[in-house]
Amino acid sequence: VTCFPGQKIAVLGLGRSGLATARALKAGGAEPILWDDSAEAREKAQTEGFICQDLSRNGAMDGITALITSPGIPHLYPEPNRVIAAALALGIPVDNDIGLFFRSFATQDWEAYDTPPRVIAVTGSNGKSTTTALIHHILEAAGRPTQVAGNIGRGALDIDPGIDGEVIVLELSSYQTELARALTPDIAVFTNLSPDHLDRHHGMGGYFAAKRRLFAEGGPDRAVIGVDEVEGQFMANQLAEGAEDDRVIRISSGQKLEGFGWSVFARKGFLSEWRKGRQMASIDLRSVPGLPGAHNHQNACAAYAAVRSLGIGPKVIEAAFHSFAGLPHRSQLVGERGGVRFINDSKATNVDSAAKALQAFPRIRWIAGGLGKDGGIKGLVPHLGAVSKAYLIGHSARDFALELGSTPYEICNTMARAVAMAAAEAESGEVVLLAPAAASFDQYPNFERRGDDFCAQVQAVLAG
Ligand code: ADP
Repeated sequence: VTCFPGQKIAVLGLGRSGLATARALKAGGAEPILWDDSAEAREKAQTEGFICQDLSRNGAMDGITALITSPGIPHLYPEPNRVIAAALALGIPVDNDIGLFFRSFATQDWEAYDTPPRVIAVTGSNGKSTTTALIHHILEAAGRPTQVAGNIGRGALDIDPGIDGEVIVLELSSYQTELARALTPDIAVFTNLSPDHLDRHHGMGGYFAAKRRLFAEGGPDRAVIGVDEVEGQFMANQLAEGAEDDRVIRISSGQKLEGFGWSVFARKGFLSEWRKGRQMASIDLRSVPGLPGAHNHQNACAAYAAVRSLGIGPKVIEAAFHSFAGLPHRSQLVGERGGVRFINDSKATNVDSAAKALQAFPRIRWIAGGLGKDGGIKGLVPHLGAVSKAYLIGHSARDFALELGSTPYEICNTMARAVAMAAAEAESGEVVLLAPAAASFDQYPNFERRGDDFCAQVQAVLAG
């Protein structure tokens, strides 16, 4: 980070990204002043030689020119954060590691490079991690130097771009885009929008606004935008207005988008690329093992569009699709026995992502439940056609049962019982699918541990 030499910068929150921020600031010649409410976190920072100081105390922010906060720190809800509130009252700009990353990137001198490093930023409600990982995978397959950071893997300030031709792929949550004071990727990708996380963002309008910040301020050279919701259509039209007709690549899972300057869409298992009314490429996605279902075809379109705009060819992309292993906990194939596949989609924590999973397979033994979200699973009722039986776990089991209508179900409570029952009852051609449509916190520390438990139970069944 070369943008704050000699300045006093406050860093709030000393988790992984907070510490990475503090280290980067120090290395860049700034003077970081740190705070975290946890004494343990402060001790760790102090052993690294950092200065910690309660930033909410009177006068503690004298001379401080910016406050950098961690993504995990809520600003306003459930109650206003006192340090952030104090900084704003004093007129001190509040930023985050993503803003710092872009500021620093913009101020570096790339003159000596044949191909200066470029940044792709991936946002959206669902499919961010899969799309980010897929872009990274295709770039690697194409022999381009590439690093992944942001919401996935390492913090943005843990990476140090500097290789000729390198492509940095950043996954950004709306919490991160909301706060970053600089957001200047070369290519911005917006996958889709669903009504998740609304509590933090003042309802849908605020949420959309947070996503849209990435596309404001002059905007990226190229924008890849999912247009299956009105918000995406709106954003695409706004960005395309008066611009070169290859600035926006519209993507869709389901719609034919043939009449635009540049588009990539998936229909009936085939991905098509169109430019100015002509089809440029077509890829059969039906037998791609790491990308099952229409939702993953949407991710494939997003990744395809992003790497195509870097000049990577359709054949290379197609081969890379086939070698993509998928991510753990997202449509992850865990095992197979007697024609029954076991799929871990523990990351399907909301109705929208669970609906996608339920549409991705023809016959399903469905393991669902946990800590239910507002609205329960009402929104899933139209998507239960493929479910031969539901095996309900966790806190929401009984509430979910009430919504299932004529779909048979069993209250299993635990994962072990659900997997054992579903495995015993599944017939050849069926999929035993964990797609909880609920948070995991009633039974697990996070969705990863829930998915790990599912995998362990499946392995036990397969071994027995
Ligand atoms: P994110 O990083 O945005 O949370 P992930 O790639 O981790 O996205 O996927 C999250 C959940 O959403 C998984 O359950 C996955 O199966 C589902 N999903 C993946 N891609 C999409 C998509 N394009 N639309 C809807 N749901 C999706």
